[in-house]
Amino acid sequence: MVSDSPSILTPNDNKPMPISIKEEDDLPNAATTALLPFRTDSSSSDSHPKPATTTVIFISLVISTCIALSAAIAFAFLFFNVSSANSESRNEFSRSLTKLKNPVVLLISSDGFRFGYQFKTDTPNINRLIKNGTEAELGLIPVFPTLTFPNHYSIVTGLYPAYHGIVNNYFVDPENGDFFTMASHEPKWWLGEPLWETVVNHGLKASTYFWPGAEVTKGSWNCPKEYCMFYNSSVPFENRVDSVLKYFDLPSSEIPSFMTLYFEDPDHQGHKVGPDDPLITEAVAGVDKMLGRLISGLEERGVFEDVNIILVGDHGMVGTCDRKLIFLDDLANWIEIPKEWVQSYSPLLAIRPPSGFSPKEVVAKMNEGLKSGNVDNGGYLRVYLKEELPSRLHYSASDRIPPIIGLIEEGFKVEQTRSKRQECGGAHGYDNAFFSMRSIFVAHGPRFARGRKVPSFENVQIYNLVTTILDINGAPNNGSMSFPQSILLPNH
Ligand SMILES: [Zn+2]
Repeated sequence: MVSDSPSILTPNDNKPMPISIKEEDDLPNAATTALLPFRTDSSSSDSHPKPATTTVIFISLVISTCIALSAAIAFAFLFFNVSSANSESRNEFSRSLTKLKNPVVLLISSDGFRFGYQFKTDTPNINRLIKNGTEAELGLIPVFPTLTFPNHYSIVTGLYPAYHGIVNNYFVDPENGDFFTMASHEPKWWLGEPLWETVVNHGLKASTYFWPGAEVTKGSWNCPKEYCMFYNSSVPFENRVDSVLKYFDLPSSEIPSFMTLYFEDPDHQGHKVGPDDPLITEAVAGVDKMLGRLISGLEERGVFEDVNIILVGDHGMVGTCDRKLIFLDDLANWIEIPKEWVQSYSPLLAIRPPSGFSPKEVVAKMNEGLKSGNVDNGGYLRVYLKEELPSRLHYSASDRIPPIIGLIEEGFKVEQTRSKRQECGGAHGYDNAFFSMRSIFVAHGPRFARGRKVPSFENVQIYNLVTTILDINGAPNNGSMSFPQSILLPNH
């Protein structure tokens, strides 16, 4: 029923009332317009209208009444349909598995898929998932910093970066001076319990076709060869999709309950050209095509309706151009910030002054310079002691986070020294409150209502969503325990 009328439901499902009110407003207006000539005629004519005028008035009255009546009937019909469909989706239960023996979650990441990219071009496959699934209506909110590694690991642990340990794409451990890079696979860096580990702990199988952290052997997860692919960006997307599809050819007990699939696009292009460029449109179409390949493969195997597909991105993208730059060297009149103090510049400015320097004083002097009006674009950078960052960023409770953090306005960049270099491209890593940093959440499968829109939420909620679908107990995390009930269809 619901799937039969998604075009009506799509904009209404989450907020039926405003739509109904709008309809109510529109229809009486239409009726008023129809009645207006009658009233005008009546008021402009004298108290003894001629018979011809009376006939005209009578006919207009009949016509107006008919219009008003049909409008009212149409409205009542629409209202009844919408409200009955809504109450139906609220009372709906999860759909039974037809071929698979156990629930399966396939978590797909399209890196840097900014919310709104889906409107850039024809995306029939993403649209199909949206139309018949559940979508965060205004996108998925990343964690701060809105960078690839911190966010991917938040998605699979339900933890903010301060708690899962991957506080940046690269950082230094202040305890021993060890350097983390995106190629670091030592378990000591990767805190928390990622989904693949939770799943294996419960005696189920997990597979990872790339995901930050998946190659790290940790607890009961030993990155088994046939279920855990070592990251290699040159593997064509088709091969990745086909490999995931092959898991569904295995005997039932061998099919992983939880699978990941990762595409570097459209982040890869976004960095080069920014979010608004034909290259992005092309990349988005390419990702959609891969989803089409996946859907067809699942359909051929008769399992498309059985698999819970969760399509997300890790963050958005914003254009950086027009010399929107702030140079740390420009602060020299207030305080010198040597490059050795700076762990990362942009869009996450992270500074660790050596011992002997008071971070509080450094922050005060930097902000004095930035606010002075004598530093180019100084007003677009605000520097904080990490403990004084807005609490909504959850970015202080880790020694790995340097004591001084700068928040940069959308699209601006911080560099050390002035140079003649000119660049235009894209970046992410900014405050997660920026709409441009949002990504997508589209979920399709037996536990997701069709054509449903839900409000935006932070990606730390996804961990509990997956464990709930798989009916296993998850590790403690920053997601809310009640969140899955607000998104998932209940089981019978
Ligand atoms: Zn990314």
